[in-house]
Amino acid sequence: MSADHGREHLVLGGRVQGVGLRPFAWRLARELGLAGHVSNCGGEVHLELEGPAAARAEFQRRLLADAPAPCMLRDCQGVEPRGEPDFQVIPGTVAEAASFLPLRDVAPCEDCRRELADPADRRHRYPFIACSRCGPRLTVTQRLPWARANTTMAAFPLCAACAREFADPADRRFHAEMTACPDCGPQLAWAGTNTPAAEVAATGTAALAAAVACLQAGGILMLKGVGGYQLLCDATDAHAVTRLRARKRRPRKPFAVLVADLAAAARLASLEPAEAQALAGPAAPIVLTRARNGPPLADGIHPGLAWLGLMLPASPLHLLLAEAVGGPLVCTSANLAGEPLCRDDAEARAAVGALADGWLSHDRAIALPCDDPVVRIIDGRPVTLRVGRGLAPQVIALPAALPPSPPLVGTGGHLKAAVALARGHEALLGPHVGDLDTPASRARHAQVAEQLCRLYHHTPAQTAHDRHPDDAGAALARRLGTAPPLAVQHHHAHALACAAEHGYTGPLLAVCWDGTGAGDDGTVWGGEWLAIDGAQARRMAWLMPLRLVGGEAAIRDPRRVAIALLAAAGCPTPWPALPEERSPLATEALTALLDRPSAGPLCSSAGRLLDGLAVLCGLIGTASFDGEAAMRLESALPAGAALPAPPADARLGLVPANSGLTLDWRGLVRRVVTARTEGSEAPALAALVHGALVAAIVEVAGRLDMRTVALGGGCFQNRALVEGARRGLEAAGHQVLVAGRIPPNDGGLALGQVVAAGRALAAAAGGH
Ligand SMILES: [Zn+2]
Ligand SMILES: [Zn+2]
Repeated sequence: MSADHGREHLVLGGRVQGVGLRPFAWRLARELGLAGHVSNCGGEVHLELEGPAAARAEFQRRLLADAPAPCMLRDCQGVEPRGEPDFQVIPGTVAEAASFLPLRDVAPCEDCRRELADPADRRHRYPFIACSRCGPRLTVTQRLPWARANTTMAAFPLCAACAREFADPADRRFHAEMTACPDCGPQLAWAGTNTPAAEVAATGTAALAAAVACLQAGGILMLKGVGGYQLLCDATDAHAVTRLRARKRRPRKPFAVLVADLAAAARLASLEPAEAQALAGPAAPIVLTRARNGPPLADGIHPGLAWLGLMLPASPLHLLLAEAVGGPLVCTSANLAGEPLCRDDAEARAAVGALADGWLSHDRAIALPCDDPVVRIIDGRPVTLRVGRGLAPQVIALPAALPPSPPLVGTGGHLKAAVALARGHEALLGPHVGDLDTPASRARHAQVAEQLCRLYHHTPAQTAHDRHPDDAGAALARRLGTAPPLAVQHHHAHALACAAEHGYTGPLLAVCWDGTGAGDDGTVWGGEWLAIDGAQARRMAWLMPLRLVGGEAAIRDPRRVAIALLAAAGCPTPWPALPEERSPLATEALTALLDRPSAGPLCSSAGRLLDGLAVLCGLIGTASFDGEAAMRLESALPAGAALPAPPADARLGLVPANSGLTLDWRGLVRRVVTARTEGSEAPALAALVHGALVAAIVEVAGRLDMRTVALGGGCFQNRALVEGARRGLEAAGHQVLVAGRIPPNDGGLALGQVVAAGRALAAAAGGH
């Protein structure tokens, strides 16, 4: 398949129905060797075209020039290739009910950028410029079909000049639903901290200038972005960054950095080609890159980590700001930890108003809040870590081998919650909502679920949720459905999400490694090997369990895990090399608790094992956010080096247990302790740990003799682990499935839940 192979979803307006447009499109697509389909949908025609870029461009040219009646491109969005063999006409209006329109927000296109920069253009420096190829979608849509009247842009009637373009089949803005200009479209509004809340101190270009001045003076700017509010400050100003961290109460979690263009990005990070491509793509995601050390970035942007999250402008407003400031800007969501994104000025002022020195807002309402998306390149391919603005919703084709699905909803996990819908042969994964720890975030999760169901005219026949002791996802599933909801085991859902993304339905071995998820046996799981066959999952192997003293407290304080590792491995505690914050007395008290079931759950979590090993490698004491310890361990790896094969005494032992294999990590712990005592440095220790874990993944797959292996769970956000495991497994003859568009972390669980529900219903209907 060529590098320019791709797929796009076109929406055609004008006189499109009853004029023979669908047969025309069918002949043209066949002639050009394109795959995909065409269908009527409301008063429009929807087309999906897949093939080389040149053939797709030729299709568009000839369609617009030679169609039986004049039709115009109302929308064009890149979607994921599906690899169908040919082009189909979908009869009737089946597609209206069956198809999920991929309503993704698109960063400014080349044409709009050119006009934005052109002093002679009437939209010169207009921060809401858009056309049929770019602009907001999901974040402004209130109803479908896709039309301005059904979005929050309905509040801005077109001026005469815009109306002429909108009605002119020869214009790029013919039926461009998001079009606007300075005379008729949304306007900026600025307020400084000394301005009373309701009073706008400046508008238009003066507002933009005031915001730029605020940033240049080291101030913290609250910005109304595309899908939510953000806090920005000068990323080269250590004082501003420190103030932002203190005000947000976010001591170390990395900040994303916004830059104007790829050249500026390349000054801050050594970019791989796939990273540059992802940065400049239409979704404008945050891309994790390997940071160059030192200035111009201030310390404290990504403390203790080798990676930097970079982002190019996602909207014309971000572009104007980034260009005017001229340097990198910290750009982080303007909500307090654990709380949902704010969706209007009143909410934002109430929640985080005091954090900012100035406000740059506007009057285009947000219909559905979306956080910024996050992507990481693994093995040269983009892996979605957060489905947000520009990547939401993710629409995926369900395996053709499965029967068509009734309407289903999955409510996701407790952390990184998101909602999935499925029907027919499609599933849709909605935007990341966040952790469901607070009433406000639970309410937002429910709102987003109801909004997606309303938007896509989706009445679930069955709902599914994570089998988590906390009831938030289950309560929502009960509320949305009429039948009793289905509880899906956490790691089973990870496995199904990964397989579904690849359209794979056969038997497979799923390596499900993450922080924690409720297991089938009353313990906490997180380092599992599951054999998946149809709707069934069987636990084949697992990491040797350890006690999480204090439960959740052990996540924030990975030294507790380190002490459990030392005690299990027969190493002396207190160990002199443990971080000093814990006194010897406390270590002894903790050690004594390890045998007491009341002190905390047993857990087989790979994430916690990595946390504890990070402490033993001397990389961290207490964690300031979930996953920090494991991230530092990966971050300590020497850049670009292949993982070493572990020495024999560091390999995980495969111990037959009553119903499977236990992976014994005590030898690895002893090896790390010895190596550290002998003076090994962090990079060598991190390589030892990663090498041993990769070897265990490969060895278990060989022992269980299963050909197809899926890697699911948050641990597989770790690039070294995924690349090492894939290489080892493929060398041993396995087929390997890894996450791509669907996050490997808990953000992907909802998709696995709807697949599980669909399979359970099909099995029940089939009588087995
Ligand atoms: Zn455009
Ligand atoms: Zn106008």
